[in-house]
Amino acid sequence: MSSTQELYDKLMEIAFNYWCGWQPEVVEIFSDLDIALWREVRHNPVAFLKRLGMDSFSERVHKQAIESRIIYAYHRLQEYMAPQRGWGGVHAGPLKVRPVAYFSAEFGLHESLPIYSGGLGVLAGDHLKSASDLGVPLVGVGLFYDQGYFRQQIDAQGWQQETYGRAELDMLPVERLCGPDGQVLTVQVETSDDTLHASLLKVQVGRSLLMLLDPGIEDNVPDDQRLTEHLERLYGGGRRERIRQELLLGVGGLRALRAMGIEPGVLHLNEGHCAFAPLEAARQAMQEQGMGFAEALEYVAPRCVFTTHTPVEAGHDRFAPEMVCEHLGPLREQLGIDEKTLLGLGRVDPENDAEPFCMTVLALKTTQRANGVSAIHGSVSRRMWQPLWPGRRAHEVPIGHITNGVHVASWLAPEMRRLYVRHLGRDWAERIRRREVWQGILGVDDGELWETHRFLKGKLVEFVRRRLLRQAGARSEPADSVARRVDKLDPDCLTIGFARRFALYKRAWLLLQDEAWLERCLTDPERPVQLIFAGKAHPMDERGKELIQRIFRLSRDPRFEGHLFLVEDYDINVGRHLVQGVDVWLNNPRRPLEACGTSGQKVVLNGGLNCSTLDGWWAEAYDGHNGFAIGSGLIHRDEAEQDKREAEQLRRVIELELVPLFYARDESGLPREWIARIKHALVSLACKYNADRMVVDYAEQAYLPASGGCSSALPDEVDLDLTSLVRWIARKER
Ligand SMILES: *Cc1c(COP(=O)(O)O)cnc(C)c1O
Repeated sequence: MSSTQELYDKLMEIAFNYWCGWQPEVVEIFSDLDIALWREVRHNPVAFLKRLGMDSFSERVHKQAIESRIIYAYHRLQEYMAPQRGWGGVHAGPLKVRPVAYFSAEFGLHESLPIYSGGLGVLAGDHLKSASDLGVPLVGVGLFYDQGYFRQQIDAQGWQQETYGRAELDMLPVERLCGPDGQVLTVQVETSDDTLHASLLKVQVGRSLLMLLDPGIEDNVPDDQRLTEHLERLYGGGRRERIRQELLLGVGGLRALRAMGIEPGVLHLNEGHCAFAPLEAARQAMQEQGMGFAEALEYVAPRCVFTTHTPVEAGHDRFAPEMVCEHLGPLREQLGIDEKTLLGLGRVDPENDAEPFCMTVLALKTTQRANGVSAIHGSVSRRMWQPLWPGRRAHEVPIGHITNGVHVASWLAPEMRRLYVRHLGRDWAERIRRREVWQGILGVDDGELWETHRFLKGKLVEFVRRRLLRQAGARSEPADSVARRVDKLDPDCLTIGFARRFALYKRAWLLLQDEAWLERCLTDPERPVQLIFAGKAHPMDERGKELIQRIFRLSRDPRFEGHLFLVEDYDINVGRHLVQGVDVWLNNPRRPLEACGTSGQKVVLNGGLNCSTLDGWWAEAYDGHNGFAIGSGLIHRDEAEQDKREAEQLRRVIELELVPLFYARDESGLPREWIARIKHALVSLACKYNADRMVVDYAEQAYLPASGGCSSALPDEVDLDLTSLVRWIARKER
């Protein structure tokens, strides 16, 4: 029998590892202790325990007999942390000595740590988690955003308002790192005019470590202390702030690992934001191994992996040459190169003094392996960067692709997990990359699968009701009219979810083009449909906000009342509820602007179906029977025409496919064909579109070859002059 203090300490230790976020049994311990408090602290386990306090803990833990569950969870965590367990225990080779350093400007691990704004961050979080599950040694390197990403409230006019809360570090599962002398550990990066400082924060994500740089310390001048105050500064702030953030991330990040005694064997740059890291790696190689710059770059490039995420030319990070020279001055001097050489590394044409400095170009020129995030995005990227390889045709450009996947345990509903345990075997989670495992779904009784899904939809309905009541309360709306609206939410109604950032290319308005049609469709007395929207617009994006306002107004328009809902403050938590409960996940980006998209993958695992334009992952995943396609993937030269056609096609799919299929019931009330599609979606998609598959792909195709510095050897006749060297790096492994 453990003392109460011991139990509390054990649970606190669990709380300090985000592993607990993807263990349903642990989440249930917290929610069973005090569900109201659990919700109030946004599922933050550390804040929960500290606010609950010893007395309440002691009282509840004994009254509800939670002791043995805590002890069991604690043992499971110890087992989980064993270094040799999993795929990596056998295959990780040299990475066990020198891990992968995974650089990213955002990490979406959990709703309690809002240092992500969308897909890029959630992907990075899922990457860390699967690396941990698999035992691929990997350290995340990122920035700490004191106020995180904004929280969204919609005011009575339907206008998005942004609110910010300051992070309380001692209430988060985050630790500030200190050196052996007990002093706070810091790193410095000099610019030509001043010095940036940052302290280091550590977040434990299963076996993966995430290290975050925090410039909010007194060593910095006030402006720099606020450098990473909000996450949206990364996308909406000034160029000067941006380059300073990126300097901190790439150069400061590598120095921070050094300060922690971590010697990475591979650098993985998740998007161009972190592309200064290879330059710092070259500087370290020069300093420590007495190399010249060209030799250092030859040493570093084969150890670097670059993932690009942006299919739009204008979306790539670019800086004015003067700004680069100012900020990289001291580093450039240590590298022993002149300004023109430095700038040339970020230019497609190094001779063109008018060309701005592009972080993606820098990354492509200093890393030996590069990839896009879906098949279609790989080919878009090859076309986009073809000018970097004059003389090669687009298909010969050495940018491959590794399609994104999602961390299954983080997105899977506990009820679905139990169903998988029953039918796919106890160890199904360790074998999710095998198609045979998912074949087991075909043997599941239709009724059992449908009942589970229906239950989850009921939970989603409860969640949306709770949220809408709370939201309306915050706007002081009369409770009875809100109650009337939310009571119409119906778990038996065909439910379509649409949740994502309100970026214009995602076209949230596509379904709203023809309101008369929409009214008929949603309110059909026999076969109704309900729509649930969620998503944030960037604070500077007026048009995105107007779109939210339009959806807000439609949600209280008498024509749509009770059929169309807007859930505020889309984040990982809202996302988790939606993907676990909807029948259909709608995604209609303008092809080819969705690099991959991952939210639909979360839906598949939970027994939902995708209805999407043939873009991103769906372009390679859709086989005619595992969901629904909008259009045929053709791109019309005229954007407006393409939008109009796809709006029509979308209406047609809903009217002629979704609705009839969903409401076609047999004598036992089951939509047999719909269920067959769910099963086929699971069998054909789940083994591939998960983050374990993605991380193993990275490990096999990139990390392991890179960790040996392995690449096609530099032919003897190539002198180590920079031009031929960059040309050699550019040959790239694929
Ligand atoms: C999964 C997820 C995303 C990414 O979804 P996309 O379909 O790529 O837009 C964005 N935000 C949150 C909160 C998510 O959970």
